[in-house]
Amino acid sequence: ASAEAEPTWSGEGWTTDGHRVKLLANVGSAEDARAGVAAGAEGVGLFRTEFCYLSATEEPSVAAQRVAYAEVLAPFAGRPVVVRTLDAGADKPLAFLNTEVEPNPALGVRGLRLSMAAAGVLDRQLEAIAAAAEDSGADVSVMAPMVATAEEAAWFVDRARAAGVARVGVMVEVPAAALSAREVLSVVDFVSLGTNDLAQYVFAADRQVGGVAELNDPWQPALLRLVALVGEAATELGKPMGVCGEAAADPALACVLVGLGASSLSMNAAALPRVGARLASVSLDQCQVAARTAVAASDRVAARTAVRAALG
Ligand code: PEP
Ligand code: MG
Repeated sequence: ASAEAEPTWSGEGWTTDGHRVKLLANVGSAEDARAGVAAGAEGVGLFRTEFCYLSATEEPSVAAQRVAYAEVLAPFAGRPVVVRTLDAGADKPLAFLNTEVEPNPALGVRGLRLSMAAAGVLDRQLEAIAAAAEDSGADVSVMAPMVATAEEAAWFVDRARAAGVARVGVMVEVPAAALSAREVLSVVDFVSLGTNDLAQYVFAADRQVGGVAELNDPWQPALLRLVALVGEAATELGKPMGVCGEAAADPALACVLVGLGASSLSMNAAALPRVGARLASVSLDQCQVAARTAVAASDRVAARTAVRAALG
């Protein structure tokens, strides 16, 4: 085999000692979904529904949403798919929802905050998601973006259950939610860590600004310490913690996340084989040692070096 050959990967996530980790795809379109299946994704850990409507000028009807979502879900019939409700605002503004001019859109009324201000839009989306789940045969869960408190999580869970969704979770991507992991986890079925926004908010460093990219590095120990808090709470409460930010697509960091308690990793389809192969080369114990080392490291460079040594 050439040096550029893709590493071997069986199509499921396992460590050498048989610890199971679901390897999932991040998708935003039917094309992404097909690419995910082709790459061997076991399901979808993040369906960014706002990607379907980045150029929409008005709210799509329930019927139109149902068709659009079913198209993305269909390739994953019989498999798990986590559908995220509209994460409108900041880097992903939607013309029909983000109508106010805000001085700091990343800190404004976005994500779930917008759903709380326009609950009708959320309810119609949930209705369309539930219908698309039936149409497609995918095993659908829903989750809310940009949740900061357990009260917000509970509000969303009520809404989603009323729409008939079986499993309801939230993203942990605001530091306050990570710091309240126990309270948040006790009102939801699962959480999914959004390391892109979690890094942005914990370092006060805009994810769209190249000049602060070093702070947004997911190897930063301060970020990993927040992930560790959520992982401990998830383990204690027996609820699944997934990771769907860019961190999950880095093979060595993926092992660290598993060591911190992640039971699923969701990423761009293209990253799956490398992450799957890396995971298949280490034991859960090595992942846990690597995780402890990364969390204790003095900086991001030291974290990388120490983890490389721990994983062998
Ligand atoms: C994240 O914030 O890490 C995430 C997965 O969501 P998005 O990149 O869509 O904000
Ligand atoms: Mg996010």
